[in-house]
Amino acid sequence: MKIIDSHVMIQSLGQQELEVLAAAGVRALVADAAGGMDYATSAPAAINFFEQTLAGETKRASDYSIEVYVLVGVKMTAIPPDYQGILDVLPEYLKRPRVVGIGEIGIEPRSKTCPDLSVQEEIVRAELKMAKQYEKAVLLHLPATDRTSWVERYVKLIDESGLDRSMAIITHSDASTTKTIVESQCVAGLSVLPMRRMTAEDAARIVAENDMDRILVTSDNNNRHSCDPISVPRVAVQMRRLGMTEETIERVLFHNPRRILDLAI
Ligand SMILES: [Zn+2]
Repeated sequence: MKIIDSHVMIQSLGQQELEVLAAAGVRALVADAAGGMDYATSAPAAINFFEQTLAGETKRASDYSIEVYVLVGVKMTAIPPDYQGILDVLPEYLKRPRVVGIGEIGIEPRSKTCPDLSVQEEIVRAELKMAKQYEKAVLLHLPATDRTSWVERYVKLIDESGLDRSMAIITHSDASTTKTIVESQCVAGLSVLPMRRMTAEDAARIVAENDMDRILVTSDNNNRHSCDPISVPRVAVQMRRLGMTEETIERVLFHNPRRILDLAI
């Protein structure tokens, strides 16, 4: 059984956890280098974090034969005053071989670093445009309330940028939004962690009830909330309990992220 966890804050995973992930079949992780910092200091600090993720974390996981791919961007809850400095270097990062997309980005009404939602929207617009230009995927954050209207707002922004909807992952989706997202031809990301109140069982059921080729199952493992680093392997167990074949499980948990994010694995 091969598995990819396509949304983690990799710095939150210790050596023992990486070993357990490898033992559970995880072959690759997609590290969110934008989401790794949940506070805003400056553009140089954020860029330094991208570098640390690309160099240090890639090497650390390779000790367990886990490939690391990286997402970069301006996180909606960590927008520094000089965020333009991050936007300016994103094109250079998008050319780096392990950088597979822009994320986690989006609009968050509760952002303390940039309460002005029109500024947040302009940043997202600029990033979607770059994603289109460099043919990279985008990972978008769904706020906790009015979820369906946020999906509609994102789809509008995606279309405006010209980015193919199949390259837009709208994450923190749940039973109430997954159908809308997949039917709009975007990709629904499931964040399987206690903080999002989604269990492995819930995720397996959502996969079974929707177009499973448009779903990414992720742990969203981070340093700030109650998480479960092996939640994606746990979803494999629950999918098996629902009667899905090994081939189907691998199709969702390995081939979907590989195809959607164009991973070289
Ligand atoms: Zn988020």
